[in-house]
Amino acid sequence: MADTIGIDDIGRMIRSAADKIRANRDELSKLDSAIGDGDHGTTIARAMGIAEKVIEESEKKELKGLLKDVGWGVMGVDGGATGPLLGSFLMGLNNGVGEKDVIDCSTLAVMFEAGLAGVRRQSKAQIGDKTMMDALLPAVDAIRQAADGGKSIKEALQNAAEAADNGAISTKDFQARFGRAKNLGERTIGCQDPGATSMALIFQGFLEGLP
Ligand code: ADP
Ligand code: MG
Repeated sequence: MADTIGIDDIGRMIRSAADKIRANRDELSKLDSAIGDGDHGTTIARAMGIAEKVIEESEKKELKGLLKDVGWGVMGVDGGATGPLLGSFLMGLNNGVGEKDVIDCSTLAVMFEAGLAGVRRQSKAQIGDKTMMDALLPAVDAIRQAADGGKSIKEALQNAAEAADNGAISTKDFQARFGRAKNLGERTIGCQDPGATSMALIFQGFLEGLP
C-alpha cells in the first residue's frame, strides 16, 4: 500500500492536535505566567478550536485551499503573538500542498518547509531565541531528513515530534529574545517557553492523528 495521506487524515491530524492542546491548556498558561502574561494556553486552545471548526464546517472535498481557510481563521484569533504566527504556519502548509490531494512523505516535507517559510515571514527568531522556532525548526528538519532518507510518513512525524519536544525542553536554558518574555531578560532562563511547548504538542497531536 502506498504511504500517503489525504484530506480526511489532515482533518484527523488537526483535530488530534487540538485535543492535545486542550488537554495541556492549563499547563501552557502556567508556563506563560512565569515569563509572559499567562494567556498562552487559552489563546492556543482557542486557535486550535477554530482550526477544528473550519475543518468541520468546510464543504471542500479536496485539500486545495482547505488549510488556507484554516490558517485564515486562526490568523484572526485575538490575544497576541499566537494567532498570526500559527495562522501563517497553517497558510504556509497550504502553499506547500498546492494542487495536490494525495500527500506522500516528500510532499509532507515540502508542506512543512512552506509552513516554516510562512512563520519566517512574521518572525526573525532563530534557534536559541526561546520561541516556538526552537521546536518548529528541528521538527521541519526531521521531516525533510526522513523524506530524503525514504522513510514513512509515520516515521517522519515520529522524528518530528521527538525533535520538537527536545527543542521545547532546550528552551529552558535560553534567554528570551522575542515577544513579551524578552522584557524579562535573564530571568527567563530556567523556564520552558510556552510557544515552543505548544508547537511540540501540536506535532505530537499530528502524529497521534495519523491512521
Ligand atoms: P503573547 O506573548 O502575545 O501573550 P502568547 O502568550 O499566546 O502571546 O504566546 C507566547 C509565545 O509566542 C512565546 O512563548 C513564543 O514562543 C511565541 N512568540 C512570541 N513572539 C514571537 C516571535 N516574534 N517569533 C516567534 N515566536 C514568538
Ligand atoms: Mg501570553
